[in-house]
Amino acid sequence: MSQFDQHNFKGERALIRVDFNVPLDENFKITDDTRMRAALPTINKILNDGGSVVLMSHFGRPKDGPTDKYSLKHLKNHLSDLLGGKEILFADDCIGEESFELSANLQPGQVLLLENLRFYKEEEKGDEAFAEKLSKHGDFWVNDAFGTAHRAHASTTIVSKFFPKGKKSFGYLMEAEVINGNKLLNNPAQPVTAIVGGAKVSDKIKLLEKLIPIADNILIGGGMAYTFIKALGGSVGKSICEYDKLDLALDTLEKAKANNCQIHLPEDTVVADKFAPDANKKLSPTNAIEDEWEGLDIGPKTAEAFSNVIKNSKTILWNGPMGVFEFDAFAVGTFEIAKAVADATALGAYSLIGGGDSVSAINKAGLEDKVSYVSTGGGAMLEFLEGKTLPGIAAVLED
Ligand code: AMP
Repeated sequence: MSQFDQHNFKGERALIRVDFNVPLDENFKITDDTRMRAALPTINKILNDGGSVVLMSHFGRPKDGPTDKYSLKHLKNHLSDLLGGKEILFADDCIGEESFELSANLQPGQVLLLENLRFYKEEEKGDEAFAEKLSKHGDFWVNDAFGTAHRAHASTTIVSKFFPKGKKSFGYLMEAEVINGNKLLNNPAQPVTAIVGGAKVSDKIKLLEKLIPIADNILIGGGMAYTFIKALGGSVGKSICEYDKLDLALDTLEKAKANNCQIHLPEDTVVADKFAPDANKKLSPTNAIEDEWEGLDIGPKTAEAFSNVIKNSKTILWNGPMGVFEFDAFAVGTFEIAKAVADATALGAYSLIGGGDSVSAINKAGLEDKVSYVSTGGGAMLEFLEGKTLPGIAAVLED
């Protein structure tokens, strides 16, 4: 049982930092409520214990203070539905007088949602006075916002100072994210395979360095593969390529060799005559792409070779798509890999979909329930796996 599980919230007001930064369409309809649903077990545990809940979150990137578009009021009705029709109280200023009146009078079982924290610039600045005001909304601080755990903001980190040990904790979501990240980092079952894709080598270099001593195989796909291919003397045409990172790519290959980690690069590539969903396409060897063409997906030989490695693995990390999967015509390779990860999981492997766009890729493939764990935190999981101390995690653990 975890510390959070053990604590009985009866009669207590829990101030929970959640990550309700969900996408909305132009009619303020939520297009993906994953992040809200991910917070429900924590909220329900506290309510079922007989406690009350004050929810605080950021929402989008408002630049000029309160803006209707970025109001958390748009989430109120959906939150009520998710909580079985419960009434949701709403405070339209997260540190306004009325908000404190509402939180002070909360009864067991009641839920109060505070307006967007980022309507105050003090939130992102990690302002102490602002954090202290926020702390007045609860007797116990629960951090369940893994998506912002890599930021030392007022509500994710600084607020911790105002709660003594024993009066703060992770929620279920944060616990799960940390447990799953650690499964990969600490004594993973072997063979370990990391699938790393996405646009740029520079975004993933720290991750690769951390993975090389851990992984038996690293499968490199997506735009970043072309920098490696170029560094090895191949022709990549107009493919995305970081020409100033060629030495870094060679250095990474050397380090992998020294650590008995096999780096696999794509043998074939689907090339396009323009960066567009309706581009003409054809297959090309990855190291001989013609001048006017650019690689937007891994080819079928690569997908098969990568899938074979994946299916023989016991631990799998996937970070970053194999191509421009946002264009249906170039999503095939990414979906093949998603399927291989799901198949390996069915065979008993542990699979973590962590960081980068691979989370939306696995959702788009409809296979999110067929893998072991899908992280809710893109940048946060990437930093966690890179071995960084995340301020939002450290804050909960400090005295
Ligand atoms: P990341 O957030 O690092 O996982 O990067 C994801 C982005 O990389 C997606 O938006 C993809 O469209 C992009 N990407 C993947 N493969 C390529 C490619 N071959 N060329 C250009 N962009 C790519």
